[in-house]
Amino acid sequence: MGIKMKTFQMLILTLVLLLVGCSESGIVERTQSIMDTFVKISVVPPNSDQTKVEKAIQEAFDRMRRVDTLMSTYKKNSEISELNRQGNITDPSKETSDVIQRAIEFSKISGGAFDITIRPLVEMWNEAKELKRLPSESKIKETLSLVGYDKIAFQKGGIYFKREGMKIDLGGIAKGYAVDKAVEALKEEGVAQALVNAGGDMYCLGKEWKVGIQHPRKKNELVEILRLKNKAVATSGDYRRYFTMEGKRFSHIIDPRTGRTVEEVPMSVTIVASDCTTADALSTAVFVLGPNKGMDLIEREDGIEGLIISEGGKVFVSSGMGDFIADYKENKS
Ligand code: AMP
Ligand code: MG
Repeated sequence: MGIKMKTFQMLILTLVLLLVGCSESGIVERTQSIMDTFVKISVVPPNSDQTKVEKAIQEAFDRMRRVDTLMSTYKKNSEISELNRQGNITDPSKETSDVIQRAIEFSKISGGAFDITIRPLVEMWNEAKELKRLPSESKIKETLSLVGYDKIAFQKGGIYFKREGMKIDLGGIAKGYAVDKAVEALKEEGVAQALVNAGGDMYCLGKEWKVGIQHPRKKNELVEILRLKNKAVATSGDYRRYFTMEGKRFSHIIDPRTGRTVEEVPMSVTIVASDCTTADALSTAVFVLGPNKGMDLIEREDGIEGLIISEGGKVFVSSGMGDFIADYKENKS
């Protein structure tokens, strides 16, 4: 019996969050391709020196590129690839240690919905896609035994896996962390007002920036427009990367508790937080948890707001999200 499989590897050319009203005169905008996405940095230049702005933007891009060099699973020489190959890394960079430690915190607050040790499951599902065959129950069970953030150990500055064959994947958090690093660089270089946008993972620095949330099914339609100042925002969407097998849709986000791709998925989850690492990780976590439990997590955590668009188009908004939504009611007409 032939299994019909179609793979959609949607290029993230269309930014999930479109920047609205960026045509303000005088803004310096630069775009580079980093971490498989287009990163746009927009800076409102102070009256002074243009070359200083260029240098700041370059430094920001360089710092993001360093995060990619350290943490990519596509790069054989990255620290993460080394850790995944050897099961340990004795002298990790501060950045890699930081991200892994923060990832573990997000695992704890999400009851394990966010878990960077899902890499063996990612590889299992990639293989299923290639072979056009769903993994067996026993294969899922066997692979699940390699998953669990509590099996990552820190010892004498090194990072170790407690079980052979474990692997990690920072795809749900590294982009947000890279955005935070870019903002750190811009601030150090004296930039006061800027927007960093890494394919929808963003930070709005120093002034109110308008950010549109894209409709998950209608490419050119915005669901809401947010006004954000000194805030980060990130979106996880089911329309960005997925594949179908036997007419069923499989997400690129995996439920670490079942080993399966998330099925009862929201169409998109947008999280606002004070830093982009948090926004990125929690958008993935809430995607796994679904609208109800996901909204519980958002309400439970201080300084986090969110907007979830569920299957059928129903929109859930957290209690403080209204503060960031421009003309909420007017917008609905
Ligand atoms: P995002 O698009 O930010 O939601 O991140 C999705 C990526 O995170 C996937 O492509 C995987 O690399 C990784 N990922 C998938 N499921 C999980 C999960 N449950 N916890 C942490 N990372 C995940
Ligand atoms: Mg994420």
